[in-house]
Amino acid sequence: MKSRTRRAHLVAAACLLVLAVYPVINPWQPYPQAVLLLGFLLAVQATSWNIISGYAGYVSLGHSMFLGLGSYTVGILAARWGVNPLWVAPLGGVTATVIAVLIGAVVLRTRGHAFVIITIAMLLAAQIIAVNARDLTRGSDGITLELPFWHRDFQNIPFYYAFLALLVLTVLFSAWIRRTKLGTGLIAIREDEGKAATIGVDTTRFKIVAYAASAFFIGVAGGVYAYYLTFINPVGSFAILGSVTIVLAALTGGRGTLYGPVVGAFLVNLVSEAATVYAGGVQSRVLLFGGALVLVVLFLPKGILPTVEAWWRRRRPAEVAYIEPLAVRERVPQPPEPGDVLLSLRGVSRRFGGLTAVDDVSLDVRQGTITALIGPNGSGKTTLFNLVTGGLPADSGEIWFDGRRVDGLRPWRRCHLGLGRTYQVTRLFKEMTVRENVVAPLADARWRTMVSDAVRGHEAERAGELLDLVGLGRFADQRAGALSYGQQKLVELAQVLMLEPRLILLDEPAGGVNPSLLGRLTDVIRELNARGVTFLVVEHNIPLVLDLCDPVAVLAGGRLIAEGPPGQVREDPAVLEAYLGDDRLPAVR
Ligand code: ADP
Ligand code: MG
Repeated sequence: MKSRTRRAHLVAAACLLVLAVYPVINPWQPYPQAVLLLGFLLAVQATSWNIISGYAGYVSLGHSMFLGLGSYTVGILAARWGVNPLWVAPLGGVTATVIAVLIGAVVLRTRGHAFVIITIAMLLAAQIIAVNARDLTRGSDGITLELPFWHRDFQNIPFYYAFLALLVLTVLFSAWIRRTKLGTGLIAIREDEGKAATIGVDTTRFKIVAYAASAFFIGVAGGVYAYYLTFINPVGSFAILGSVTIVLAALTGGRGTLYGPVVGAFLVNLVSEAATVYAGGVQSRVLLFGGALVLVVLFLPKGILPTVEAWWRRRRPAEVAYIEPLAVRERVPQPPEPGDVLLSLRGVSRRFGGLTAVDDVSLDVRQGTITALIGPNGSGKTTLFNLVTGGLPADSGEIWFDGRRVDGLRPWRRCHLGLGRTYQVTRLFKEMTVRENVVAPLADARWRTMVSDAVRGHEAERAGELLDLVGLGRFADQRAGALSYGQQKLVELAQVLMLEPRLILLDEPAGGVNPSLLGRLTDVIRELNARGVTFLVVEHNIPLVLDLCDPVAVLAGGRLIAEGPPGQVREDPAVLEAYLGDDRLPAVR
């Protein structure tokens, strides 16, 4: 993995060197230079787009809007202030970023598809504003900028270097983001946004920052581009074809990768150039690009670079080892004495349409206990977990954690307070490695944390310890999706332990885990409990519950029907009735 990345950087550096000396070697041919500089421009846009749409997975279909915003900012300011457009080009980036933050703050608060539609709508709105705000933009007449100040003999060479420099900066910026916790958080959002929120990623802020970051360099490039064209108008500056081209470039090369969008941009730019020369006309280009987009989505869904990489990996497959059974340790640690109430639910309810999944539940979990929550399938256990961690809002009632009311807090805030959970069906980020998964949780919402290295030294060390604790140290560099189901459950446990939560909710931790790992699991829970971690455990394996947990709470049909020490709950007539027809509980009697 490491050597492959290094090889990619070496190839990129070699290409950069060739491109940097090209105008010096071949200065008298303006045409190839012009084709290349438009390639750089498209690569700047595709690489930027990749930050929000590749890393975070929120597809923007209106990204050329930022190019237009940059062009207009620079066109207007250069004329007003009487300065050269190049000097104010960075302000084009500032405008683009500010607008992105404003749009993002409105649209990215929620999840899902609204974003795609809004990005197109915004592009068209920008065009309409540019036509109508005549005082500012001169409407459809457009704005003419001054001619380049350098001698005609230099032709486009200064533009060539300006765009090349912007491309280098954009790629470095994108690479830097990918290496920070911001980058990991964005990938986590792409893979499973709900899960990302429960491990402490402030998903709203991360998305807005990514959208803003994806606008800046396009805005700057837009300013330079306006100077290059020396004329801008609404239709040219806010063109939907421009946005489609960006998407096509990034998808062709491989979205979500660092160099994919650059490779794609050069290819698409060449094809575009050929289309202009041989087929002519914008319409033919729309057709061509539309067709190409369909072909790419159908036959190269991951893009060129990832496909090549996958092919390479298939030629030399990494081996997936399986874990051997572990000996259960002899020493059973003493559980701590139950302390104050840590988690308290007071009259909590949640309905789905006509069904009341959680019905007026009041439940206390004391510090230092391993409290069980059992009940037949569909009795509302998972829903109750979702209410506590914030995946779902409660309809009524209060939830208190560690003396604070938390039911109005976003999931990541609850995580930062010390609430952790695992899922009934594991929700690891399958494309990340096991180690990346374990270090993905964020302990706080500070900006400093967000821009720090994705894996800091002591975190890698701690991740290693935790993986050893659950017996999976050897798998740190494997893709999480390649592990067996039971192993994934244990990785998720290690993941939740990373932040040292005070209370951990385990949703059927033993479900699908083979018996040899089961011993390891109860060992780990006991050991952590002895160190002061409180657990609330949903589990169907009743012998395991009776052995591990005290007290036991029983849900049936959304209502809490019994609560107490395991011996007492197991004899409770209401509990026996609730389990009637369910063969699990009678089996242990
Ligand atoms: P358990 O975890 O105890 O098996 P759940 O909490 O998953 O039970 O489900 C309780 C009830 O709520 C079930 O009848 C289930 O069908 C319903 N339910 C759970 N989640 C949803 C949802 N998102 N939308 C509609 N109904 C749901
Ligand atoms: Mg469940």
